[in-house]
Amino acid sequence: NLVRLAAIKDVQACEPPATFFDIAEETGSVFGENVFSLSVMKKRLPKSVFRSVSATIEKGEALDPAIADVVASALKDWAMEKGVTHYAHVFYPLTGLTAEKHDSFMEPVGDGTAIWEFQGKTLIQGEPDASSFPNGGIRATFEARGYTGWDVQSPAYILENPNGNTLCIPTIFVSMTGEALDHKTPLLRSQKAMADQATRILELFGHKDIDNVVSYCGPEQEYFLVDSSFVNLRPDLLNAGRTLFGAKPPKGQEFDDHYFGAIPDRVLAFMHDTERALFKLGIPAKTRHNEVAPGQFEIAPVFERSNLASDHQQMLMSIFRSVAKQHGMECLFHEKPFAGVNGSGKHVNFSFGNNSQGNLLLPGDNPHDNAQFLVFCAAIIRAVHQHGGLLRLSVASAGNDHRLGANEAPPAIISIFLGDQLADVFDQIAKGGATSSKQKGILNVGVDTLPDLTKDAGDRNRTSPFAFTGNRFEFRAAGSNQTVAAPMVIINTIMAEALDFCASELEAAVAAGTDFNEAVQTLLAKIVENHGAVIFNGNGYSDEWHLEAEARGLKNLRTTVDSLPEYLTPESRELFSTYGVFNEAELESRFEVGVEQYVMTLVVEANLTAEIAQTTILPAAVRFQTELAQNVGALKAAGVDADTSDLLVISELVTDLRTGLAGLKDAVAGALEHEGIAEATYQRDVVIPAMAAVRAAADALEAVVADDLWALPTYQEMLYIL
Ligand code: ADP
Ligand code: MG
Repeated sequence: NLVRLAAIKDVQACEPPATFFDIAEETGSVFGENVFSLSVMKKRLPKSVFRSVSATIEKGEALDPAIADVVASALKDWAMEKGVTHYAHVFYPLTGLTAEKHDSFMEPVGDGTAIWEFQGKTLIQGEPDASSFPNGGIRATFEARGYTGWDVQSPAYILENPNGNTLCIPTIFVSMTGEALDHKTPLLRSQKAMADQATRILELFGHKDIDNVVSYCGPEQEYFLVDSSFVNLRPDLLNAGRTLFGAKPPKGQEFDDHYFGAIPDRVLAFMHDTERALFKLGIPAKTRHNEVAPGQFEIAPVFERSNLASDHQQMLMSIFRSVAKQHGMECLFHEKPFAGVNGSGKHVNFSFGNNSQGNLLLPGDNPHDNAQFLVFCAAIIRAVHQHGGLLRLSVASAGNDHRLGANEAPPAIISIFLGDQLADVFDQIAKGGATSSKQKGILNVGVDTLPDLTKDAGDRNRTSPFAFTGNRFEFRAAGSNQTVAAPMVIINTIMAEALDFCASELEAAVAAGTDFNEAVQTLLAKIVENHGAVIFNGNGYSDEWHLEAEARGLKNLRTTVDSLPEYLTPESRELFSTYGVFNEAELESRFEVGVEQYVMTLVVEANLTAEIAQTTILPAAVRFQTELAQNVGALKAAGVDADTSDLLVISELVTDLRTGLAGLKDAVAGALEHEGIAEATYQRDVVIPAMAAVRAAADALEAVVADDLWALPTYQEMLYIL
């Protein structure tokens, strides 16, 4: 097939783009250049206004309308000096993507001229037509308005584009009645709920003047790069973000030669350019390397407050997509773009802390600090044990279903890995209990110092979904395409509940006259006893673990369809309403949107599968079949023995493909009889297997059809030619 072969030539002839990174430039000099940061504000705002804004940012409150005009005007001047003509409220709808509506600074004044203006009220609030964003029934269609409001903790920034620069304002997105239609609103609410409860614990430990506690998040992002010439010939990659066909290449990832290997030149150029763009926006890109699969790479920025980290993460993904295009490549964030090689995840590293007490997940160097550290760890143990289902739900998507539990990512069972040392500490606490805590050899938290819990690279259990890594936890189940806001909302909320429990227990014990250290010891022992079942330090990939987890009563929500109902359990409703993160309507809406997104993904994949098989693969197979048949006929006519084995093989596969296609057609038609979660279940149980049958026949054909008839770029080409 000439088109495919031409694509290979194109890739080989590819030159890096003209925007190529200038190695002589001092990279650090551009950091934060396009951010309306505190330091820019300090220079440009009157002292009193600056003080007020920075206090607002520290507390995470809404901007004082009295000073909004001054801030907006300074922001506009700064932006216009940098060539900006339009501003956009940027928000994060439930599609998981980023949305922006652009408005010009221009205001007509009525005498035929216009001025350039940006008012405080437009900075604080926007009013996009929201009717085409998923809302799960929250907004009646006649009331299509949505409101956006600036999250002052996430600074305004300028997105550069050769076709015009835009001032971007990161915002929440809510309905007219105040219901969240996005990922940021619940993140801010959950953050506050967690902070309130964490503060109670810190007060119990005798701290005064406690700064606002926040959750921090450091996401590691995996992605694939594939040359655009190939992607353009793959309707599946273009429309579904993953390949729906493709035989396994002769060489996969079994040699382990890609991970941490030398980065290819072309990719290094891409990395330079993306990093420079990230730096300009104040996104602290730090680590980059090859990943396990061929064509797969990783980027990790330094951790930040979770709401800022989440915005930055979304910006990072759009920057990667657009810079990749400039470099003639496509950046794939799908969780499983290629079957048979590793998919991509997003590790969500998180911790809690504030300016006055520092990182609350860092073991201290005296018994008092250790006791506090252990209370926070115990709270995590309780939270994850009680709400593992919600954590699982927070990473549920059709794409991630291909990864979780497939020996490349943790299973869908949510357990905690503490590491040998910390597990031993909790073990001793459990054995000691409160009564016999003075027993020899048993750790007494108010007196003893913890053994050194140094981060040990050898002690990293990669099979656990939730692992302690020395000064933070790492939630490894998130998919590469997902927003980190979703898991952070759950982590904050379940921590709020667990810290609330701990604080109440300790307060009650102290009020009853119990010694504080003893109360802490009792609490820790109680949590280990009631929730220790969630701690698992073994191999999460093993079959035994599936059995044992079941015996321990841990949930195993294998697919998205199994996970979605977690929104609506009585426990979830109670949890989210108690901490003010989601009301009933919001939970119902998230459930509905989750179902909708899952179904839509599968409908698109099923249609693409049918189309590609029918219009690209079947014709190639039939042509080859005809060629073979003509060959056999010619040989027979010439009186020569004809070997018909290839013809028989291909004929059988062509029949399989046709049968598969007919089955898929029926499966797709059958979906019309189902609705809601029943349709999602149907897609999972009927449509996915029907797609798999088509693919099996097609992939087998790829291995036998003449290469010059094959139109789809192969796995070998897409993964190895860069
Ligand atoms: P690894 O590949 O070993 O898991 P990386 O260095 O690739 O680790 O990524 C670790 C991530 O964890 C980085 O984003 C880093 O900033 C983040 N991180 C480090 N300390 C904390 C912390 N206290 N809280 C949240 N994230 C953290
Ligand atoms: Mg990691």
